[in-house]
Amino acid sequence: MAASPGFDRRALLKGGLTVTAVGALGAFGTARADASVAAPEIYGTGDWGARPPSGAITVENHKPTYIVVHHTVEPGNSEDYSKERAFQISRDIQNFHMNTRGWIDTGQQFTNSRGGFVTEGRHRSLEILRGGTQHVQGANVANHNSEVIGIENEGLYSTVDVPRALWDSLVKLVAYIASQYGIPPENIKGHRDFNSTECPGQVLYDRLPELRQAVGGALGRSVAAPLEWPLLKPGDTGRKVLAAQHLLRARGARSVPADGVFGPSTRDAVSALAAAHGLTGHTCYAAAHADETGFLGADIWPLITPSVRPGTGDEAARAAGALVEATGTRVTGVLTPRTWQELLAS
Ligand SMILES: [Zn+2]
Repeated sequence: MAASPGFDRRALLKGGLTVTAVGALGAFGTARADASVAAPEIYGTGDWGARPPSGAITVENHKPTYIVVHHTVEPGNSEDYSKERAFQISRDIQNFHMNTRGWIDTGQQFTNSRGGFVTEGRHRSLEILRGGTQHVQGANVANHNSEVIGIENEGLYSTVDVPRALWDSLVKLVAYIASQYGIPPENIKGHRDFNSTECPGQVLYDRLPELRQAVGGALGRSVAAPLEWPLLKPGDTGRKVLAAQHLLRARGARSVPADGVFGPSTRDAVSALAAAHGLTGHTCYAAAHADETGFLGADIWPLITPSVRPGTGDEAARAAGALVEATGTRVTGVLTPRTWQELLAS
């Protein structure tokens, strides 16, 4: 005889869920109760010889909203794919964060090595993830640490791809986190989607749509493409740079030339804006190993793209014109941050 309804109900109640609650979760398509996402092997702080934290770990009584992907940048792309290497980088990062940054513990919640070994970063992250209802506050995305659960991937992925083992373990880890917390795949982000940093490297960042699809597949969900701000760096050229220059000029940075070349004056204007808004401390391991002065990203764009009705020939109109001219899109009426974002993404 097949399992009786009574058996099913007992099993559900044992999981702390009523039948009604399971139905509601199913309706939203979230996968808290989705047994298809297996827990990956994650080595705890005790396994890799972590130091005790120097202060109390903050556990917040809510789930994280976003899963954030980082790359470590330093010490580069090792060809040591061993578990011992994964443990060593876990210790190195913790030492750097505690000794140099003065933090209480490792900044990120999890670390993924080039050999595909996943370790717990900040203490209690594994236990709290398994619980699926709370959030260990880390230090890996400035101004967003109560919202994000961060994964540091060993290596530098600005121009080269990640090893297959790292990718496979990343997919499994992110799918498990998304399943545990009911996080939609659209909320899988790169560090640069929050701060003006290159992290997690252009190549790995460009694979985030593939990561979202893979996780969506594991969860049985379809995935929409999220709209993100572009990252502009000194040395970049083109219409997005030109638009940014007009927007900076509209804010009073008159020394910025409108030439479509991200040169020193543009960099200085962006740096000054970041400093004025306290946006210079990108708290992840990668940012400490790269000069990202003057990068214009997700935390700067909202400052220079207010809702505005462009007047004939003014800087906002010129900025919109630079983007529209290239896309063929016709913009009328008030430009909102959302429309700026759509123009910049096209
Ligand atoms: Zn980062």
